[in-house]
This record gives sequence, C-alpha cells and structure tokens, in this order.
Amino acid sequence: MSHIVIDKEKCKACYLCVKECPKNLIKVGEETNSLGNHVIKFDDPNHECLGCAMCAMRCPDLAIKEVYRG
Ligand code: SF4
Ligand code: SF4
Repeated sequence: MSHIVIDKEKCKACYLCVKECPKNLIKVGEETNSLGNHVIKFDDPNHECLGCAMCAMRCPDLAIKEVYRG
C-alpha cells in the first residue's frame, strides 16, 4: 500500500503539495507544529496513493520525507 511520511516540523504550510497530488490525498490539517503552522495530513481512506512522489518533489522544504510505493 503506497503512502507518504510527513516531517511535520518542517512543514511551512505553503500547501503546494495539496495542489500537486493527482488524487487529492493531501489536506490541510487541524494540527499545528511548533511554528504554529497548520501542517498537512495524508488522507487516503480508499488506498488510492500512487506512490508517485510528486508531492515530495514539489515540497520546497523536504517535509515529505519518505514515499512508499506498495
Ligand atoms: S509542500 Fe511541503 S511545506 Fe508546503 S504544505 Fe506541503 S509538506 Fe508543507
Ligand atoms: S505519492 Fe503521489 S498520489 Fe501519493 S500523496 Fe503523493 S502525490 Fe499523492
């Protein structure tokens, strides 16, 4: 099962990854990190993630630290 791992402390809440995901699996979360940013959350109830890593490549802060393709 494909999925991503987010380094929440690195997320600056630019939401470029939200727009990039072809399956719309990344959402603005309610949780905040120590900088007060609303960090993203990976929301994939139907296991649609492609493991394409487009989100990780788009992130300027390397906050999507791992992508598993399953
Ligand atoms: S692109 Fe990176 S910094 Fe921007 S919201 Fe996504 S994970 Fe956070
Ligand atoms: S790996 Fe691809 S499909 Fe999965 S969350 Fe990232 S952009 Fe979306």
